[in-house]
Amino acid sequence: MADYATLKQQIATSPAFIVDEAELIATLQAFDDLREHSGCRLLYSLKALPLMPVLSLIKPYVDGFSVSSLFEARLAHEVLMGQGGIHLTSPGIKPDEMPELVDLCSHISCNSFGQYRQLDACVQPAVSLGLRINPQLSYSQDARYDPCRPHSKLGIGINALMKEDFPENIKGLHFHTTFAKTSCQPLVETVALLRCALSTHWAQLDWINLGGGYLFQHMEDRHLFLDVVGSLIKSGLTVFIEPGNAVVGHTGYLLATVIDCFDSDGKTVAVLDTSVNHQPRVFEYQLQPELAEHDNEGRFPAILAGCTCLAGDIFGEYRFIRPIAVGDKVLFKQAGAYSMVKANRFNGYNLPDIYVINGDRVSSVKQYGYFGYRQQWSPEEY
Ligand SMILES: *Cc1c(COP(=O)(O)O)cnc(C)c1O
Repeated sequence: MADYATLKQQIATSPAFIVDEAELIATLQAFDDLREHSGCRLLYSLKALPLMPVLSLIKPYVDGFSVSSLFEARLAHEVLMGQGGIHLTSPGIKPDEMPELVDLCSHISCNSFGQYRQLDACVQPAVSLGLRINPQLSYSQDARYDPCRPHSKLGIGINALMKEDFPENIKGLHFHTTFAKTSCQPLVETVALLRCALSTHWAQLDWINLGGGYLFQHMEDRHLFLDVVGSLIKSGLTVFIEPGNAVVGHTGYLLATVIDCFDSDGKTVAVLDTSVNHQPRVFEYQLQPELAEHDNEGRFPAILAGCTCLAGDIFGEYRFIRPIAVGDKVLFKQAGAYSMVKANRFNGYNLPDIYVINGDRVSSVKQYGYFGYRQQWSPEEY
């Protein structure tokens, strides 16, 4: 694990996203071990962080990438150069994109029967078609993040599926129903349900994709995962998992600097040169991100606030061992997944630069400036 003080000194600009290459490689090696022991195949869900240098680092450790759009499929193709599968599932495939998608992808899991019929009409023998299933077993309290919510748009409901003819050229099943789980129990229950409901079609299947949504490095019941995957392999299937967050989440940091500090109704507010627009999940989920400098025993609390005009642009209240002051640098952890990819320039604040570090080696990957902002908002002829 990185030494935070050294890490902060290594980075010349602020705000900045930092990817710790050594941590990423250690995670991928742990996945190697899981792959070896369980027999599952590993895909990286590219949407969590599509940074090309990161994709190149991940490539040797995975059996391919999983993607959710045409652009992701193109990027995956550029990086993989045929050395790995490209698995697609999305509710948003446009008809005019299908010919290119069936060229780029090795596996496509259709989100609906309508989508299946359209894809089937242009599909080539090299592509393996599957169905994205909604097992209708919910594991999220918050309906906004529950693919199994009533009237879901994600996948074919298991009850509806049992009433339809199961197409003969369907070779795979896909489901993805959880987020950031550390127990395999949902997986065990879901697979049991699918095996029971679809037993008459099992023999025609080549593969099953168990989705992402699990934090494999923190799994409390790894033996259950090994059991489930083992029994699926025994029944003749190739088993895929497609984590995103578990691969890159903890390898990324957001570095920020305190630019103002004052008392507001008896509490210290420290304004940062970043905002929740650089980590939109903080605001969407109303979650407080982990901060490297936070100390439970610290006697100096402060509210870390973003610099935009939004009153609720707040990271949270943290405790420090010294009073926080203008010029101090702070480091948010767990910023690898769904941060860089969702960051935006709201209020005209620059995007954080991006660095990849490994020990003493620091590579600057992206430097943003006014030009990028202007380009986004100026007509082509300007
Ligand atoms: C987002 C997504 C993943 C990756 O989820 P993580 O929680 O990042 O592991 C995998 N599969 C599908 C279909 C997804 O939508």
